[in-house]
Amino acid sequence: MDYNKLAELLFPHITKTPEEYNTIFPPRNLPEGAMVTRLGPSPTGFMHLGNLYGAFADERLAHQSGGVFFLRIEDTDDKREVEGAIEIIINSLKFFGVNFDEGATMTGDSGNYGPYHQSERGEIYQCFAKEMVRKGQVYPCFMTAEEIEEIRKKQEENKETPGIYGKYAKSRELTYEEIEEKVKAGVPYVIRLKSTGNPDATGDDVRHVEVEDAIRGTLRMPENFQDSVILKATGIPTYHFAHVIDDHFMYTTHVIRGEEWLSSLPLHVELFEKTGFPLPIYCHTAQLMKIDEESGQKRKLSKRKDPELSLNFYRELGYHPQAVREYLLTILNSNYEEWRIANPDAPAEDFKFTVGKMGNSGVLFDLVKLNDVCKDTLVKIPASELRVFMLNWAKEFAPEMAHYFEDNIEFIEKVLDLGRTGDKPRKDLIYARQILEFIGYFFDESFKREDGLPENVSPEDAKAVLEAYLKTYDHSDDQSAWFDKIRTIATDLGYAAKPKDFKKNPEMYKGHVGDISTVIREAVTGRAQSPDIWEIQQILGEERTVARVKAAMEA
Ligand code: GLU
Repeated sequence: MDYNKLAELLFPHITKTPEEYNTIFPPRNLPEGAMVTRLGPSPTGFMHLGNLYGAFADERLAHQSGGVFFLRIEDTDDKREVEGAIEIIINSLKFFGVNFDEGATMTGDSGNYGPYHQSERGEIYQCFAKEMVRKGQVYPCFMTAEEIEEIRKKQEENKETPGIYGKYAKSRELTYEEIEEKVKAGVPYVIRLKSTGNPDATGDDVRHVEVEDAIRGTLRMPENFQDSVILKATGIPTYHFAHVIDDHFMYTTHVIRGEEWLSSLPLHVELFEKTGFPLPIYCHTAQLMKIDEESGQKRKLSKRKDPELSLNFYRELGYHPQAVREYLLTILNSNYEEWRIANPDAPAEDFKFTVGKMGNSGVLFDLVKLNDVCKDTLVKIPASELRVFMLNWAKEFAPEMAHYFEDNIEFIEKVLDLGRTGDKPRKDLIYARQILEFIGYFFDESFKREDGLPENVSPEDAKAVLEAYLKTYDHSDDQSAWFDKIRTIATDLGYAAKPKDFKKNPEMYKGHVGDISTVIREAVTGRAQSPDIWEIQQILGEERTVARVKAAMEA
């Protein structure tokens, strides 16, 4: 068959030659060892933790090595595209501190290797599909969906590998004239790879491909023998072909992607071989797993069952991006935690991230641990910064409370800093929604009496405590003078001045000083537990403190 003629028949509109693309997209001029990485999300509108996990690895590798990290929108699957998805992708990554050097942006493409939307690269893919037709490496396939289904059934009955290959690849046999007739008649067709793999080989005769995966080491897999589709009937490429063409002409050095792509790696290897492009370095990341609450078993995070898989979950609850980043780094690189202990105050960017330290099977994601990391991270963030973070979050997710964070800056900064100064700072703060709840009692609007009296205290005693408290209350007392008064109230009412006295001789007392301070704490904060009451009162001010105690007496 005259493949040049066939190429012209199938792609008459493609006039550029492959060589021209070498000029349009010259190799990048980067220092030795610079890595080029990319994130290729599909615009489904759903950004998940796996995207962020990969993005951090991409970002670190590129930026650590003086390379380039770009964003490519993989929108070849038009069925799945959701409106506004690109905005979601860019904004949610930006929120978590992932910034691209190049690629799709909100205001169009930026960079010399675009377009960065696969849907706009049709001509490039078709040019290389045409070239492969010319070399006899691919062919038009006119099989209908029904024919393919029939083949599948037959293969199932015969217990054969499903797919279009070898004897099932009927369109391979068509003559030029037959193809021409169909094309002229407008019969739809796809372009398939004419795989040179051997579908009939068994046992030791099966050829293998070997790929050095930077995370998993040497991968040895049976070669591909499927005549996979590279261009769909619409002229749009499949993931496989787009991956090969784009990662070549965008000069991606490291392809970091999920392990779900491992099974198509032999196909990608064959496509790279046929096009003559060098293989990038593959880094197949492990699945994110969790411990199932019910079974206690490790399992994949699921979109349906686990809200924490969605990046929106963290946005809505107001997780601080720095904490999420910090936690993901600990699960991304096995030596990060150790480094962090040795370098508690260093910026995460100082850590030397390596692909080799990435997990290669089931990386465990643990919300409880994330929350711990949040506590450690937030305790280091100054109140002034935290206030701005809270304000921005509240504007979006709790607008009716946003004013808490801008009405009285001095006050809210004190509230956020409560118990966090000194050598043993409290680590109460986790994420915005929780913080809002945690500090709620500082605002009359959200102040509620939430807890009942301690069991050792009768309502009459509680009233007596508050009465005595008000009588002796002096806002200018320092902490120890203040507490001495509480002790006095306790002993006057038959409660032990020290919890250990009560423990020793419980029959001698009604309770102990802790019960008394709980009554006061509940009057002031509405809660049985809170940071230091004296400090809270200092922040609330005399007037509000007294008013709350009075109100509690009437409650
Ligand atoms: N569009 C692919 C996905 O969303 C990207 C895979 C890759 O990075 O190669 O899964």
